[in-house]
Amino acid sequence: MSTTLELTQALLKKISLTPDDAGCMDLMAEYLQQRGFVIEWMNFGDTKNMWARRGTTAPVFAFAGHTDIVPTGPVDEWDSPPFEPTIKAGHIYGRGAADMKGSLAAMLTACDGFITQYDNHAGSIAFLITSDEEGPATNGTVKVMEALDARGEKIDYCIVGEPTSHKSFGDMVRVGRRGSINGYLTLNGKQGHVAYPELVENPIHAFAPILSIITTERWDEGNDYFPPTSFQISNINAGTGVENVVPGELKLVFNLRFSSELTPEIIKSRITHIIDQQSDNYELVWKLSGLPFITERGELTNAVEKALLDVTGKTPILSTGGGTSDGRFIAPYGTQVIELGPINETIHKINECVSIADLDALSLTYKKILSNILL
Ligand SMILES: [Zn+2]
Repeated sequence: MSTTLELTQALLKKISLTPDDAGCMDLMAEYLQQRGFVIEWMNFGDTKNMWARRGTTAPVFAFAGHTDIVPTGPVDEWDSPPFEPTIKAGHIYGRGAADMKGSLAAMLTACDGFITQYDNHAGSIAFLITSDEEGPATNGTVKVMEALDARGEKIDYCIVGEPTSHKSFGDMVRVGRRGSINGYLTLNGKQGHVAYPELVENPIHAFAPILSIITTERWDEGNDYFPPTSFQISNINAGTGVENVVPGELKLVFNLRFSSELTPEIIKSRITHIIDQQSDNYELVWKLSGLPFITERGELTNAVEKALLDVTGKTPILSTGGGTSDGRFIAPYGTQVIELGPINETIHKINECVSIADLDALSLTYKKILSNILL
């Protein structure tokens, strides 16, 4: 029987750059098959997805995660080769160690331990694994959830293995994510010579009051689960590069990370209203990246808090911070979703690593969560 460390090492050797799974799921499938899971491949486009289930009854407890990794960056800047897992000072180094092959290995060993001990557990255990999380995420979890929903298969509880710990293992889990929406504004003016102000319409000047209002607006106060909505400008461009020409347009890109107090419709109407006060000559295009979701206090938060208290002696912070994850595709189906994984300090960086002791703690925590839900 393989340990969590051995399984992590085996997965780290596979160069699974999005959307290439590189055999990671075959390794997982074989392990799970030996323990009574039925494997189903749900491939869409260039993306490999695995749905594995043990049991036929409710409730369904699923582990969700991804086998794909982000590129290594300059290999010569790594202290050890990124695809030759290397142990140093209690940590294992390699691309994907923390995000999230260590978590996948911990899920496997947690299941093994749980099933060995409680062969007759209630409900079902499942795995929803994709190879397209770090990329466009269009043929991965979102499609599997659609397919499961279409045939009436429901996930009641889901743990996503994203690295959520901050300073020490288990100090933080994610119970939701803020929504994210981008706006692309083009403010039109009339180009001309700076010496003839009566002949030009300067879009930079027209933008000045908009900038002032839009950056000091209080969008909401947040709520019990979310911090207040934040607005940030990421790009602003205007000007021809020379001193004596008033430009004909100004372009702006901005983003809002929003709480469940707001909807995309409310955001669009409030921002449009602010711009309308200053200009009637603009185009504004929106792109919604994700709606906010939240797992409110209930069975799963209790199960996770109790398990972490047992393993770490501490109660985790229930956070909704950070970027988006595949949890956003699962939660809308009424599933209670929590993200719980190792420390995220080195993810996507040179010399990505994870503590070996934390991997064992993670496996034990996953096993205790299974016990708290399915016994
Ligand atoms: Zn990840």
